[in-house]
Amino acid sequence: MRTGAEYLASLNDGRTVYLDGAVVENVAEHPAFAPVARTVAGLYDYAADPSNQMQYHAEEIGGPANLVYSIPRSPEQLAARGQAIARWAQQTKGWLGRSPDHLGATFAGFASNAGVFEVPGRGFDENVRSFYRHILKNSSYVSYAVIPPQYSRASTASSWGEDFIQVGVVRETEEGLIVRGSQMLATGGPLADELFVTCIKPLKPEDSAFAISFAVPIATEGLKLIARRPYAPAATSEFDYPLTSRYDEPDAFVVFDDVLVPWERVFVDRDVQRVREPFFRTPAHPLMNWQAQIRFAEKLRFIASVAHRIAEVNETDQSPGTVEKLGELAALVLSVESALCAAEYAAAPDEQGTYVPARRYIYGAMGLQGETYPRIIQILREIASGGVMQLPSSAADMISPTTSGDIDRYIRSRNTGSLDRIKLFRLAWDIIGSEFGGRHQQYEIFYAGSSALVKSAYTYRDFGYEALGEELDSFLSGYDLPETL
Ligand SMILES: Cc1cc2nc3c(=O)[nH]c(=O)nc-3n(C[C@H](O)[C@H](O)[C@H](O)COP(=O)(O)OP(=O)(O)OC[C@H]3O[C@@H](n4cnc5c(N)ncnc54)[C@H](O)[C@@H]3O)c2cc1C
Repeated sequence: MRTGAEYLASLNDGRTVYLDGAVVENVAEHPAFAPVARTVAGLYDYAADPSNQMQYHAEEIGGPANLVYSIPRSPEQLAARGQAIARWAQQTKGWLGRSPDHLGATFAGFASNAGVFEVPGRGFDENVRSFYRHILKNSSYVSYAVIPPQYSRASTASSWGEDFIQVGVVRETEEGLIVRGSQMLATGGPLADELFVTCIKPLKPEDSAFAISFAVPIATEGLKLIARRPYAPAATSEFDYPLTSRYDEPDAFVVFDDVLVPWERVFVDRDVQRVREPFFRTPAHPLMNWQAQIRFAEKLRFIASVAHRIAEVNETDQSPGTVEKLGELAALVLSVESALCAAEYAAAPDEQGTYVPARRYIYGAMGLQGETYPRIIQILREIASGGVMQLPSSAADMISPTTSGDIDRYIRSRNTGSLDRIKLFRLAWDIIGSEFGGRHQQYEIFYAGSSALVKSAYTYRDFGYEALGEELDSFLSGYDLPETL
């Protein structure tokens, strides 16, 4: 199994990642990316240690692989898969949104029903299976860019002029497709092995040039990642920014400068009908979002523990108002945990025999995520109150003899010393107020699509209003106007 050291070494592969107007020489050593690269390396080391029970025998490759990539074919295998995802999430307290298990789930789903990709004579279904085997064998870290750039949300790419704003096929050659254009975002892209590209937003028949699906190594010629402003370099120390300094997962705008996509890496070729279907006709969408909710629950439990500890440290945990807030926070966390339990309990095999967590419950939690996360952050803000400002500027103030005396004496609680108190409140600030914390609020609200889309396209659709309507009709038909009053 791949180790952390092997992963870090593999990143020095000539990839084109831009930061502050220049190409990053080696992301594994750059201050913007190195800290979170080490975190990802830690995940690989954890999985490589057999005592952590992250491995299984993958029949597709006839050897060991990471459970997070497995196709669950029984309730027990689904449970084992979920536990492995949870163990990885525990390593990062849920702060790595797109760890390698996210796209691992997508391709497990695609490969489990690769026939959906089949076009006679084109071999796309085998390309999907082969890429899945590649992921299994190499424990690949795949990032994805599935949303067009924000150019116009009222129209689609074919009406955006002759330029390829959204990535599309310029021409084809014997070797494959030549693609040009851009995609909105690839979280983790600068640190991944591979980029999966497709378009999950609906396209029109005239958009066929943009209806493509493929995967290429990040270090592919012509593939450029323009990284957003990183937050880790501004983190003065791990003590001051305990989350930013470890989990600043990069997001990058993606540019395709006439990139050659070899035929064996093409999954959908200019086919408006097929380009979105695999997410919904295979278990990919529920599997990847089940992973996302397992991670989300881990993160929420962590935030809840911080809120509760702050209440203890400030001795507000006895005030009815604070206890009520902590109760509400607990209820919000439990709503996600309950959805996970329900999704696993109600999991059922699909036609290919893959055990699929029940979409209905996953989409229930996702439908409220855009409200759940901001509400939890708001509760932590209210509980932490001005305490996140009653802090020295950095750890340097605590070390310097000029300032440490006053800090030790005054910035403490009746039950907690200065160091532990400041440590806790700095952590709270990294959750609610740092740039990293702000990015996480944006992430949780939008990573699966806007709340409006999630509610209408997923939660509404899978809730089962039709069955409820029939029950309602049956109830309503059981009585009528009285003959007399
Ligand atoms: C931190 C972060 C990381 C991301 N990582 C990735 C990644 O790794 N890969 C990737 O492909 N994408 C990624 N994304 C992009 C993400 O998928 C998109 O943000 C998401 O799909 C929503 O698209 P949009 O931002 O263009 O917003 P839009 O969909 O354009 O929505 C914008 C606003 O319009 C509203 N709106 C839209 N449609 C409707 C409607 N029908 N009714 C009412 N209101 C509506 C929305 O509620 C929202 O307020 C990431 C985004 C963020 C913030």
